[in-house]
Amino acid sequence: MKKSAPNNDVVKLDVLIVGAGFSGLYQLLSLRDKLGLSVKVVEAGDGVGGTWYWNRYPGARCDSESYAYSFYFDKELLGEWQWSERYPGQAEVVRYLNYVADKFDLKRDIKFNSRVLSAHYNQSRNKWVVTTEPGQQFECTYLVTAVGCLSSTNVPKFPGQDRFKGDWFHTGRWPNEGVDFTGKRVGQIGTGSTGIQTIPIIAETASHLTVFQRSANYSVPASNRPLSADFQKYLRGNYEDIKKMIQSNTNGHPFVFSDRKVFDVSDEEREEIFEEAWTRGGLSFRGCFQDVAFDKKANDLAADFIKRKIRSIVKNRETAKKLTNIDHAFGSKRPPIDTNYFETFNRNNVTLVDVKSSPIKSITPKGVKTKDGEYEVDILVFATGFDAMTRALLNIDIQGRDGLKLRDVWEDGPKTFLGLQVAGFPNLFTITGPGSPSVLCNMPVPIEQHVEWIQDCISYMKKNKISFIEATEGSMEKWVEHIDEVVNETLFIHAKNSWYYGANIPGKPRGFMPYAGGMARYRAICNDVANQNYVGFKLGDTDRGKTYTPPKISVDILVEDVMANRQGI
Ligand code: NAP
Repeated sequence: MKKSAPNNDVVKLDVLIVGAGFSGLYQLLSLRDKLGLSVKVVEAGDGVGGTWYWNRYPGARCDSESYAYSFYFDKELLGEWQWSERYPGQAEVVRYLNYVADKFDLKRDIKFNSRVLSAHYNQSRNKWVVTTEPGQQFECTYLVTAVGCLSSTNVPKFPGQDRFKGDWFHTGRWPNEGVDFTGKRVGQIGTGSTGIQTIPIIAETASHLTVFQRSANYSVPASNRPLSADFQKYLRGNYEDIKKMIQSNTNGHPFVFSDRKVFDVSDEEREEIFEEAWTRGGLSFRGCFQDVAFDKKANDLAADFIKRKIRSIVKNRETAKKLTNIDHAFGSKRPPIDTNYFETFNRNNVTLVDVKSSPIKSITPKGVKTKDGEYEVDILVFATGFDAMTRALLNIDIQGRDGLKLRDVWEDGPKTFLGLQVAGFPNLFTITGPGSPSVLCNMPVPIEQHVEWIQDCISYMKKNKISFIEATEGSMEKWVEHIDEVVNETLFIHAKNSWYYGANIPGKPRGFMPYAGGMARYRAICNDVANQNYVGFKLGDTDRGKTYTPPKISVDILVEDVMANRQGI
């Protein structure tokens, strides 16, 4: 295999991986070092990190507990790396991923500054031909996309935007050198998980910060703090137990949902439990009762508790009213956690503008114009989120068998089997693709599971002399139905305007994109599928250079049974 090739040479590989974040790095290690395949990664950025490489906005911090937001596949790595805080900041996560890349000597197989433009499956040769922006071509048997769920930014198109005389930035493409807000009038659009992190930091130096809020949001204090020496010691002695916990529960976070229900306790007791969970902080707030995530009436009480907290923090009654005018159930949109978010609205240099009642009409050369007036700003920050889960894949011209375009298959919304494969696209694996639990979990947990599942699958293919694997139409349709079934059992259906449904992007087909059945159930289904010789997939051998021969093993069995067996998890 060639180490480096001039742009006009085709690099021939067993596997090409797209993206050098958590998924791409571990998939490289797993297929190169454990299976001995020839593997390269192509990455658009000039460093590792994926989502964390691009999201360098002020206040960017992980919402998962650091010690769980880690790879668990290597004991030595677990013993060596020490997180400094309960929630790692962006720079620390990037340091961690660089540490991993260096420890396992991964960078020699990563081509940075390479954006994939197209990936076409050559049927007669059973190869993927991939072209990148500098004009490099790769030919590979397996193509693995590790492009992240939240990587394609959403910059809304307001009339007049290009006439704005100041500087504007999207949080997901933040300049490497940072942005100096000192003495500037700043406008920020967006109060999701990202906006809630940037606002307190920007307010510290800006002369004035105007926050344009379309939807009010719940948030629970992060209660971030340095990890004490005692806790670090505890971690080193208990990694196996933590691993068991995060790999066997529904969301990959290091907490279990309580058994008690909201209405099983007295009002006083309930208040104490909420109070204690609020003080502890973090995403585990929603786990302090078993039914907050499922029963709307139980959820209403949690929502009411948070709204009372907001009112107790925010001094201006009008501002508090806008901040508590929340249109969705707690947790039905991704619940943010914060450091001083609501407190920031007590500062004299911060104004909250409700752009639901008074929508943004245009961006003017001087600032933002709403129905009620114009707000002059020097810098505009778009914390407006992402065209999540699908856009990063759809931006690539992906063509499978018979020139089938992914853009056409997903025209009415994404369809996959297990979030890992799409019918018509042999040997293409999509890590944390739509239909996987991904964004509903502590991300490294589903990522490790996907990577290892793909590794086992390719290993099985090699052993059995199988040259292609492809989800069947039937299994893909069943999986899409199953995604709908399980989400209907949850409170996510109370926020059909969320990005989980694609509702933040005008014209995007609506449908719940991640798998809401829980990581444990998902893992069990994936294991069952593999243990039954990849039921739900079509596997076979190709007569190289000639025709597409019928599969040696054809398992076009519906996967209903497999899924039904796992309903209880
Ligand atoms: P987001 O949740 O989609 O929030 C975008 C914000 O921009 C919302 O307040 C949205 O209002 C607003 N917005 C969008 N278009 C608008 C328009 N045309 N006019 C006015 N307002 C508009 O995006 P995000 O905050 O970047 O978070 C995305 C996801 O990234 C999170 O849910 C989370 O999964 C992940 N994330 C994780 C972390 C972490 O772990 N630390 C941090 C940040 C983000 P509406 O709500 O009305 O649409």
